[in-house]
Amino acid sequence: DLNSFESINPYTGEKFARFELLTDSELDKALQKSQEAFLKWRKTSLKERLALIDALGNLLNSEAPTYGQTISLEMGKPLREAIAEVKKCAVACKYYVEHAPSQLKSRKVPLETGRIGEVRYEPLGVILGIMPWNFPFWQVIRFAIPALAAGNVVMVKHAPNTPRSALMLQQLFARAGFPVGVYTNLFISVQQVSGLISRREIAGVSLTGSTRAGRAVAALAGQHLKPSVLELGGSNSLIALPDAPVQKVVEQAVNARFMNAGQSCISAKRIFVPKDKYDTYIKELTIRIKRLKVGNPLMDDTHIGPVARLDLAEQLEKQVAASVDMGARVHLGAQRSGTIFTPTLLTHVKPGMPAFDQELFGPVAVLIVYSSEKEVIQLANSTPYGLGTALFTEDVERAKKLVPKFQDGAVYINEWIHSDPRLPFGGVKDSGYGRELSEEGIRAFVNVKSVVVN
Ligand code: NDP
Repeated sequence: DLNSFESINPYTGEKFARFELLTDSELDKALQKSQEAFLKWRKTSLKERLALIDALGNLLNSEAPTYGQTISLEMGKPLREAIAEVKKCAVACKYYVEHAPSQLKSRKVPLETGRIGEVRYEPLGVILGIMPWNFPFWQVIRFAIPALAAGNVVMVKHAPNTPRSALMLQQLFARAGFPVGVYTNLFISVQQVSGLISRREIAGVSLTGSTRAGRAVAALAGQHLKPSVLELGGSNSLIALPDAPVQKVVEQAVNARFMNAGQSCISAKRIFVPKDKYDTYIKELTIRIKRLKVGNPLMDDTHIGPVARLDLAEQLEKQVAASVDMGARVHLGAQRSGTIFTPTLLTHVKPGMPAFDQELFGPVAVLIVYSSEKEVIQLANSTPYGLGTALFTEDVERAKKLVPKFQDGAVYINEWIHSDPRLPFGGVKDSGYGRELSEEGIRAFVNVKSVVVN
């Protein structure tokens, strides 16, 4: 268990800042303040709440380069991608400003003559968000905005390696005009999180992170009967069906796998190609992967920055080495120097190897061959995870028929999977449960109240 939150540039190793953990009594006060804020916030009109969310969206949009710079310095993603992440946060704000009124509108249910039924959506209280470092702004916004729009208040325990992003978010909410206590950043330990979940004031928990963290938090939430949403890891399949256009598949596969140096839950962690096109795919993938420039994330021409922390880079190296020991082959890359991991293409990967069974959170493309449609569906599902699958083919009608066969929260045809505020986002199996975004996201933390008038 860590005793502080520390911002370290993963590219240079420079230490920017260190933040002490809250004491238990400080945490107690923050929780009280949050609960008091909830009692007022729940009485505000939806219109007032959405006006603040709109103001927040405008700040995110106009100041994206500033926040992008902090994200990039703190966790190493290319500046270009960091700015895009912040702009996407603004899009999510706009989405809920526009749609929350219809999504939270009470619904009349006709009963017998003389009796009227109504379904209302009321807030629950203080919702705790436990968030990771890979999209330090987006993951938080995706959780917080719908929760706040519904009239809840939020407390956020961010990842210990992105504390400056965490503080900036809190400042942003304050500058947008949110009352004190409606959005609270917490620098606290995992042990303090456990205590917090047990508190009466905490009405729900949302976690984005590893399956290990998800299991621990789900157990606590269950013990204290708090609703939870878990957005955990993934090992998404990208399947090139035999008729798929190779160039398009390769272009999308490389983007989908190497974006954010491969540190995304929805990254294309397993790429399936037909056996008789293996040579073509390997040739084209090699060409494109070789073009990826690794280096300083602040430079415009950098595609891949460092892995966000040294321990994560070391873990990735071990997972690759263990896969190679079991028969996988390094076709390209797999050289580590500190946090830099060169873009890698692994072949001959089979079930049982870490590169197949586990989440590889870094710039490693895993190529797997298949011989039949039946086999590729079976292989795609042979993972503990269930976040998403993308199918590439000229035969869209055929692909649509295959959709029910995948045990995933998303199936995309002819494009790579990405989250979109208009669509629910989440997984099945070890990828977690519950959905964020869209209408499902705003209903995640509400009391659905049935009212009958006779
Ligand atoms: P973690 O999942 O451990 O961390 C994510 C968040 O959960 C952090 O705020 C972390 O805090 C917290 N957390 C972890 N364990 C607990 C617990 N028992 N109780 C309460 N909170 C907890 O991710 P790591 O950064 O260690 O990365 C490890 C792996 O997780 C990656 O290699 C990747 O496979 C996966 N991951 C997946 C993500 C996704 O988007 N789905 C995002 C990040 C990681 P703390 O660090 O203080 O423990």
